[in-house]
Amino acid sequence: MKFSQLKLTTDYTNLAPVFYNKVKGTPLKEPFLICASQDAAGLLGIDEDISLDDKLVEVLNATHLLEGSEPFAMCYAGHQFGYFVPRLGDGRALNLGKAKGFNLQLKGAGQTLYSRQGDGRAVLRSSIREFLMSEAMHGLGIETSRALALIGSDEDVARERWEKGAIVLRLSPTWVRFGTFEYFNFPGRHDKLEHLADYVIAESFSHLQNQENRYLSMYKEVVQKTAGLLAKWQSVGFNHGVMNTDNMSIAGLTIDYGPFAFLDDYDPNYICNHTDTEGRYSFKNQPGIAHWNLGQLAKALSPIVHYESAMQALDDVFGDTYEREYLRIMYKKMGLNIQDEKDLELLKWMLGALESATIDYTLFFRKLSRYDGDKKEILDIAVFRTPLQEWLEAYDKRLEKESLKQEQRHKKMLRVNPKYILKNHILQEAIQKAQSHDFTMVKELLKVAHSPFEEHVELAHLCKSAPQESKNIKLSCSS
Ligand code: AMP
Ligand code: MG
Repeated sequence: MKFSQLKLTTDYTNLAPVFYNKVKGTPLKEPFLICASQDAAGLLGIDEDISLDDKLVEVLNATHLLEGSEPFAMCYAGHQFGYFVPRLGDGRALNLGKAKGFNLQLKGAGQTLYSRQGDGRAVLRSSIREFLMSEAMHGLGIETSRALALIGSDEDVARERWEKGAIVLRLSPTWVRFGTFEYFNFPGRHDKLEHLADYVIAESFSHLQNQENRYLSMYKEVVQKTAGLLAKWQSVGFNHGVMNTDNMSIAGLTIDYGPFAFLDDYDPNYICNHTDTEGRYSFKNQPGIAHWNLGQLAKALSPIVHYESAMQALDDVFGDTYEREYLRIMYKKMGLNIQDEKDLELLKWMLGALESATIDYTLFFRKLSRYDGDKKEILDIAVFRTPLQEWLEAYDKRLEKESLKQEQRHKKMLRVNPKYILKNHILQEAIQKAQSHDFTMVKELLKVAHSPFEEHVELAHLCKSAPQESKNIKLSCSS
């Protein structure tokens, strides 16, 4: 099937008009295709080369509607940096409709009723970041919205300086956010809360449909999924940067990629978002913030879910799920297959040693995945060697208890410790080339994004360490 043969439905517009606003996109001038993800296209049942589809650019530019498509923007509220904003909404996102369980959404296709002071646009820089990162998170096995394609234009968009405009076509099983519930709770529209909860259950938790206490069960599942997601973020070293409740997916997916970053050197205090002066969304704060956001969701749901029961569920489920998942992943990353009572101590020691050693988090684990007792390769990438040297000696002893052969351990570890993560300095290089219409690096990055555990020897330049001056840099929120 071709992309342009897709037939969409717009279930969300069966809800009352207060849930959304129908909108026409504002096309960019002379758009061109930058990159498309055939892997994401497969989700929609597309088996023909999507980049060759003659309608792809027009659909992204909102000048051609797929069959059944009736574009609309969704409204929502949100706690931004802890403060409640009663009305946000898709200020630059246009929902085209749904196919095969995925909601297609354009980001950057012009103003909507919810644009406030914004221009409805997205710049090339942030669109490349979102396009690649959506696919990379999926490649890493982390729940996320996906990206189907990216178009650019030479039309200028005003930010701190003039930048080029772009549009990404994103896919997600749902675009409902914690903030969507907050939007209806705030003015006391409790009937709408119920309609929204029913919609969410039908869309994302259909197995709960006939349950008696289905809204509470839905909440518990959101808690569980969010906790599991955070465990994955923390273990891979991902810092989202803007964990406002409007950027929290009700289905526990990573959404709304802004000033995100992967850790270069391991530093739990790292803050990727330049505007986050207090470090509210620092790397180490993320699980706590997710918990706080879930507390806000419990408040928003309180007219239809018993608040104390929801908070009890939050306390019962979040910490346990998070810890269990985080430890499970970290022990796998460390190559520990049998359980040992001292493993938690060894893990904490390792994290402390990584911090003191000043060492690239991803590269450390990749090298550990080939560790044969010779410490030099690992110590050579640390600024301070002693803390890590001592830890590796303890690790040697711990490995003696393992029954797996070294070769098998290495094989397993190489499947969980990526070679490629999208480092900011590499993304920046790809963005700079794209500014002058050279998209080869974007395409190369898409390739490693989809299979980050493979060697891709010919693309090894895409995993080089950040130069000292751009390690753990802060990024601007403007996008
Ligand atoms: P974000 O921080 O990107 O999640 O955006 C927060 C809110 O601002 C969302 O409601 C966005 O839709 C809106 N927004 C961000 N940038 C723009 C823009 N350029 N034009 C219109 N709305 C925007
Ligand atoms: Mg957002």
